[in-house]
Amino acid sequence: MEITHLDKIELLGLTGEELERFVTGDLGESKFRAAQIGQWLARGADIDGMTNLSAALRARLSEIAVANPVRIMECYKSKLDETEKFLYALPDGNLIEGVLMRYHHGDTLCVSTQVGCRMGCAFCASTLEGRVRNLTPGEILGQVAAANRHIQASDPERRVHNIVLMGSGEPLDNYDNVVKFLRLVNDPKGMNISLRNISLSTCGLVRRMYDFAKEGLPVTLSLSLHAPNDEIRRKIMPVANAYPYSEVLTACKYYIEQTGRRVIFEYALIKDLNSDVRHAEELARRLRGMRCHVNLIPLNDVKERKLEAPSRQTVEAFLKRLELKHISATVRREMGADIEGACGQLRRKVLESVE
Ligand code: SAH
Repeated sequence: MEITHLDKIELLGLTGEELERFVTGDLGESKFRAAQIGQWLARGADIDGMTNLSAALRARLSEIAVANPVRIMECYKSKLDETEKFLYALPDGNLIEGVLMRYHHGDTLCVSTQVGCRMGCAFCASTLEGRVRNLTPGEILGQVAAANRHIQASDPERRVHNIVLMGSGEPLDNYDNVVKFLRLVNDPKGMNISLRNISLSTCGLVRRMYDFAKEGLPVTLSLSLHAPNDEIRRKIMPVANAYPYSEVLTACKYYIEQTGRRVIFEYALIKDLNSDVRHAEELARRLRGMRCHVNLIPLNDVKERKLEAPSRQTVEAFLKRLELKHISATVRREMGADIEGACGQLRRKVLESVE
């Protein structure tokens, strides 16, 4: 695979201040130039497209920098709904995935934060080969910029409106880069996406959850719970050995207090493991009184693992029991089922086919 951009500065990953310092310092240009470049970056332009810069400056800039390190290599469109799946190429040849979903409240992009993942959850395709590396802030933001460019090619009015950090990787295991990304994407001079339209999903790195609650960023926290107790959680999520269930819930309560936002619990229903009505009862007891919502996800089968989704009736019965116990819950609608919509699945397929 071609190796490009390595060791180049990722302009998208710079704050306004950093960009200004780079343009006035390294390039010896004016503040005005920095502002022009900033405007182009916000529009998703590449360096060649920055047409109000001289050709000489563009050439010099291209030697040491890249606007967006992320390139859409392949795009698959679902025939069932309007979901699109992207396979992105990174400068060092690594691949990551993203999913764009069209909802009535706007386009929602699912973004990756790491190549691979080291959390080791038993049901997840992203973690099968461990963590390859963290993504840079420019690579996380670059996914949004690339998706915007892609959709605006056919409809200039459309743009990514909501972001979920639910692609491959554990966002809180790449803490500094993810926090910088959140500040960048929210910059009024940049993409200006409201933090309230962003969800960060974590498997529950408790210490980092406290740090994150103190950042003052009003993003929605999604917590991958997937079990009603420690015993079951430990069977499928190694992180449960580091942080007991009760500590995870206490950290969620702290997040709710600090941000005033409800927490979303993700619960993948797995046949013969966590999907019985007595598990729903136990879950309801644990979550009683919390400002939260439970997202039930019938497991997406991962062919490398022997875990499967339960029957439809089992899913319905689980949902009913939670509702009966006054826990707000929904079953997540499956999108893009024909294009490997679930995280990590597409990248693996591509890697398998080239191996
Ligand atoms: N590392 C983060 C975010 C990435 S995964 C986290 O753990 O939350 C996004 C969500 O998809 C998580 O809730 C994860 O547990 C879930 N997930 C992963 N594999 C799945 C599968 N095969 N079926 C259903 N949900 C899955």
